[in-house]
Amino acid sequence: SRNIEPFVHESVRNIPVAITKEELEGYYEGFSNRTLWPLYHDVIRPPTYHRHWWRPYEQINRRFADAVCQEVAQGGTVWVHDYQLHLVPGLVRAQRPDVRIGFFLHIPLPGRGIFAQLPWREQILRGTLGADVVGFQTRSNARNFVDLACWYAGARQATGGVSFEGRRVEIDAFPISVDFDRFERIARSPGVADRVREFRSRLGDRKIMVGVDRLDYTKGIDIRMLAFQELLSSSGFSAEDVVMIQSAVPTREVVTEYADLRSTVEELVGQINGDFGSVGRVAVQYMRQNLSPAELVALYLTADVMLVTPLRDGMNLVAKEYVASRVDQLGTMLLSEFTGASTELGQALIVNPHDRDGLVAAMERAIRMDPAEQRRRMRSMRRTVKTHDVHAWARKMLDRMQR
Ligand code: UDP
Repeated sequence: SRNIEPFVHESVRNIPVAITKEELEGYYEGFSNRTLWPLYHDVIRPPTYHRHWWRPYEQINRRFADAVCQEVAQGGTVWVHDYQLHLVPGLVRAQRPDVRIGFFLHIPLPGRGIFAQLPWREQILRGTLGADVVGFQTRSNARNFVDLACWYAGARQATGGVSFEGRRVEIDAFPISVDFDRFERIARSPGVADRVREFRSRLGDRKIMVGVDRLDYTKGIDIRMLAFQELLSSSGFSAEDVVMIQSAVPTREVVTEYADLRSTVEELVGQINGDFGSVGRVAVQYMRQNLSPAELVALYLTADVMLVTPLRDGMNLVAKEYVASRVDQLGTMLLSEFTGASTELGQALIVNPHDRDGLVAAMERAIRMDPAEQRRRMRSMRRTVKTHDVHAWARKMLDRMQR
């Protein structure tokens, strides 16, 4: 996962687990990305419940668990990551009662009203409860898990978690973060400063709004475009005053919902540029590419206004990377209240992406915000991300697992 990249060290040995193309379809594209992903993101798209995807999901989880049990030292620690591997904690515990097991969910966990749909809810919960510590991005996600474990897996609430099959399972929030120092370092490198100057001179004397997301339907890219369209058509601002850059990273393109989203977004970009652009000056600069870290940070530093408007997001690291990169302490961020990041970054302009008027008003406010207020808010957010960086996150969860 890109999220744990900072920990990849020369001394880390990767052990591949073989998966056939056919298994991958059921396990990854199917059960992981078309059942659990939409279910966990508040059913923004309807999840598909195919029984023939469950079997490969179980099989591959078993294969990962077996590989781990082969390798882990006596009394060692196993840290399992994310929704693709829910069954691994239980499977490892059954073979290796000597090891300590942690499970961390990088994406949100919905409440009973939504989670109840899952035909395999009991297996998923029981598998996860094989861990000693189960970590989530927010306290609300952790509370949902306690409730679900009690309703559907026969766990009983206890202080700091639940008791399950005679064991204590600790359940808590461990909000993931970014490598603050690394982003600061990249932001201070001379090549990046040149790039920012170049971007600015190419875009002309306009306020620059930036979005950076995987092209995923949870990110609210389409909603952001619609708000921008309204900003240009009905506020005091025109395409001579403001420009939007949207960098969209290709993702899961074989899944129809993703292909549909791409069409929607690209049609909107075309409409907006058709209506508001002119020769040599687009209103939306759209890129469907993967950016290098330096290019990404240059974009963050170019953004007068960063747009982070997901409908649902476990954390959203882009929000924290923007803050870490702003060594100049300037810039404003619109941040959806449906992201994990919003529980820590209250000094952003918190928005409800479903509220079009509110979104347009927040864009206007961000464009007009004076540098003193920008600095006050950015300083406070930078302090938060610096103290709660990705290293602190890893230490905190590992300490808890080993206690
Ligand atoms: N990212 C990247 N290349 C890009 C754009 C983004 O590697 O062109 C990275 C970005 O730096 C961030 C991650 O992708 O670390 C996105 O994480 P986030 O939590 O915001 O969303 P996710 O894609 O995990 O849902």
